[in-house]
Amino acid sequence: MSLIVQKFGGTSVGSIERIENVARKVISTKAQGNDVIVVVSAMAGETDRLKALADEVGADSSSDHQREIDVLLSTGEQVSIALLSMMLKKLGCRARSYTGGQIRILTDDAHTKARIQEIDTEKIGSDLAADKVVVVAGFQGVDSSGNITTFGRGASDLTAVAIAGVMAAAECRIYTDVDGVYTTDPNVVEGARCLESLTFEEMLELASLGSKVLHTRAVELASKYKLPIRVLSSFNESPGTLITSEEELDMERPMISGIAMTRDEAKLTVLGVDDVPGIAHKILGPISAANIEVDMIVQNVAADNSTDFTFTVARADYEKSMDILKKVAKDIEAREFTGDNKIAKLSLVGVGMRSHAGVASKMFETLADESINIQMISTSEIKISVVIAEKYLELAARALHSKFDLSAIADSEQE
Ligand code: ASP
Ligand code: MG
Repeated sequence: MSLIVQKFGGTSVGSIERIENVARKVISTKAQGNDVIVVVSAMAGETDRLKALADEVGADSSSDHQREIDVLLSTGEQVSIALLSMMLKKLGCRARSYTGGQIRILTDDAHTKARIQEIDTEKIGSDLAADKVVVVAGFQGVDSSGNITTFGRGASDLTAVAIAGVMAAAECRIYTDVDGVYTTDPNVVEGARCLESLTFEEMLELASLGSKVLHTRAVELASKYKLPIRVLSSFNESPGTLITSEEELDMERPMISGIAMTRDEAKLTVLGVDDVPGIAHKILGPISAANIEVDMIVQNVAADNSTDFTFTVARADYEKSMDILKKVAKDIEAREFTGDNKIAKLSLVGVGMRSHAGVASKMFETLADESINIQMISTSEIKISVVIAEKYLELAARALHSKFDLSAIADSEQE
């Protein structure tokens, strides 16, 4: 008998009818001879609704209110576990619901962004042994003083993976409203295809680059436990996307698995600064002191002992960064500084590029054929990212998707 964790997101439990659909999926997994733990999110829109109520009171996210915000937001999931457990029982399946605190998911006391420290496996184990389905509220835990904590938006995935990990489940299935993880955004590229499989590393790059199906911390944790995750739709029977270690995927990996896109960045450049030690620190020190995260950085080679320095930040930090730069540019006697918040970042991701030369040049050639100017480039072992003008993002994605043959049906046919 294997243990399966099934996690259902907000849309999957968005109505009583849908909760019944979820209950039937759970019962069918159980009928196949598995033990089942279910983790659920709040019903669709509920967390937003609760958050809006807090805003109406004027409870902003300052530390004064964070404890109470957790008390409030955690109720969304509590509703879902109760309704699902009732439905399971009505359909003849033994089930028991638990809030994060009841199952004792112990966290630190960082309200609204708490981190899991420990999970008590005893209660879950004895319910499973008594042939019950264990239904756990996602996104929440309890600190050592008994205060309710939450893990951050979208973090029910994390609850599911953490429980699956400590209970040594065979697989963690994340049910959502799409068929799985796609080669790229299907709203942008018509031929985008649902992937059969991905490695943890690839999923991490895709998750952190804006493909919103899975919570990044959940993928990190699954990778640590080597716990296979399957992302699948709760509205049909398709197999979804399996995310697991590279060793488990015996087929040769394709060169490129997916294309990630984000419009969430802005670019800043300091022109004509002295090419001397300490300049990068003088420019980026004040930026990081303001708690602004820098993503890509480019400094070009100096010809005349002066250099240009370019970096990107989240678009939300653009104005603040420009203000800081104004002062810095003056201090370091830069010739000029400029900014552009109409940029986008596009990345090719694939573990296969480790063993294939020429991915970058093929990418650059494709962009050149479309007359798209590359403003910045950065690479890692399994990723090549470029910054381009935002208005060309969709064109670039379509051209690359077709050039790298990502619409091909089987992963192995890509070679
Ligand atoms: N209900 C929480 C949210 O909307 C957690 C989750 O759904 O994963 O962010
Ligand atoms: Mg989610």
